[in-house]
Amino acid sequence: SPVAVVCIGMAGSGKTTFMQRINNYLHVNNKKPYVLNLDPAVLNVPFQANIDIRDSINYKEVMKQYNLGPNGGILTSLNLFATKIDQIIGLLEKRANPPPESSIVPPKHFLVDTPGQIEAFVWSASGSILLESLASSFPTVIAYIIDTPRTSSTSTFMSNMLYACSILYKTKLPMILVFNKTDVQDAEFAREWMTDFEKFQEALHEEENKGVFGGEGFGGSGYMGSLLNSMSLMLEEFYSHLNMVAVSSMTGEGIDDFFDAVEEKRKEFERDYKPELEKRR
Ligand code: GDP
Ligand code: MG
Repeated sequence: SPVAVVCIGMAGSGKTTFMQRINNYLHVNNKKPYVLNLDPAVLNVPFQANIDIRDSINYKEVMKQYNLGPNGGILTSLNLFATKIDQIIGLLEKRANPPPESSIVPPKHFLVDTPGQIEAFVWSASGSILLESLASSFPTVIAYIIDTPRTSSTSTFMSNMLYACSILYKTKLPMILVFNKTDVQDAEFAREWMTDFEKFQEALHEEENKGVFGGEGFGGSGYMGSLLNSMSLMLEEFYSHLNMVAVSSMTGEGIDDFFDAVEEKRKEFERDYKPELEKRR
């Protein structure tokens, strides 16, 4: 069965550019994917989407008709789209299981792009419906895209990891942390911080000494210090459940590693998540 890869991440982290890159990679490697765009507000989609929310929903019209701002427009568009999820899953299932006499090669991957603003998808009812429907039909993996250059200070790193953690908890799906834009900034620091918490603490102390936190910082012995120590335990547990890969959507560096991680997570889904999902139903 094909695996669904859902790209989630903060606005500007590079979800759409990453989609374009992995789509291109699969085409070049003769594993043509089936591609979905779920961002109603995007102007240009730099890849050929087989299913595009914009084909059935006009975001600008939705805003006008319901008298909404941009965020409300995106949410309402997603809600409208979610009412058609059965049809969409039907289409995907047909793709995945073409009639034996046909010459259609089923895709090995469904690639899903999500709205620029992360919360519109992750914290909305329709986002949950879309994800749950997908995951109940196909192995589904979250690719959490991170803007590496913007995550290189300890505080932005920590808040991004906590956000990823909350998404893992919310979606209950296997997750790959994709450190993007490595052409601008190497992600080695992240790998180090994730595998050795003392290294992270050292970096905190360094930033603290530079006065980044303005006085009593994270590494101190007070409240922040003990908060950090408890968080380190929590994050260690969190990191142990994920794969991290470093990529550049611009140059294509690291995309091989990403697909190795997808395969690993697909197996994990079949082994650990599927039985759980079936129990819940
Ligand atoms: P989205 O909002 O998450 O879909 O982000 P986009 O894919 O639209 O990308 C946001 C910006 O980051 C654009 O200007 C991209 O050109 C840029 N970008 C995305 N990936 C990379 C990358 O790997 N390297 C560099 N240097 N820029 C990137
Ligand atoms: Mg986008």
